[in-house]
Amino acid sequence: MNTVECTFFCLTTSPLFLPSAFILTGFVLSLTGYFLVRNSIGKLRFYWFANILALVNAPILYFSMKCSMSLFLKIYFGYAIIAFLFLGIAPMAYRYYLKRIYGFQRDKELEDMVGVKRVYILNTSLPKAFTLGRDIFVSAGMIDLLEENELKAVLAHEKFHVIENRTPFLNRMKYLTFLPLSQDRIEIMADEYAERIAGKNALISAKRKIDEFYS
Ligand SMILES: [Zn+2]
Repeated sequence: MNTVECTFFCLTTSPLFLPSAFILTGFVLSLTGYFLVRNSIGKLRFYWFANILALVNAPILYFSMKCSMSLFLKIYFGYAIIAFLFLGIAPMAYRYYLKRIYGFQRDKELEDMVGVKRVYILNTSLPKAFTLGRDIFVSAGMIDLLEENELKAVLAHEKFHVIENRTPFLNRMKYLTFLPLSQDRIEIMADEYAERIAGKNALISAKRKIDEFYS
């Protein structure tokens, strides 16, 4: 038997075949939903499901294997553990770096503006806004540069990233499941979400001001 036949044989004769096939069906449905749905949050939800189901299926496949193909899965799990550790540690290290270089403090008013748990003001005059895990960082420079509705658009864009990161380790899963969702696509979805929250004009003028600042 070659490795493909062997894998097929292992899977179909495994007592775990049924749960695995069930999860695979869910995965295919989620992926279909992801491609069909237009709303950015809905798209993200289907994408989460697909990622989660793909990850749940990985150990099931692993325990179904008795053949040489299990080497492939061992390599995958080795990779998964390293990627998980690395991708888990990197944001923490970056946060520590930000604290040391700029310093930041929480701001209740900004948190209430878009309804997120934690917004920090970064002590720098450069306009910056980004999300680390579930925390949004916006710089003092950004607050000075923008009007309230523009700031709301920027925060709403970042809130989309918080929602994106809310599912446990979704950002890390992307690397583990190899499901396609490019950073460009995520940025477009975040902008669509920001337009819905703060209005298209607010987002456009915020972007224009930031571009002008840096050009
Ligand atoms: Zn973004």
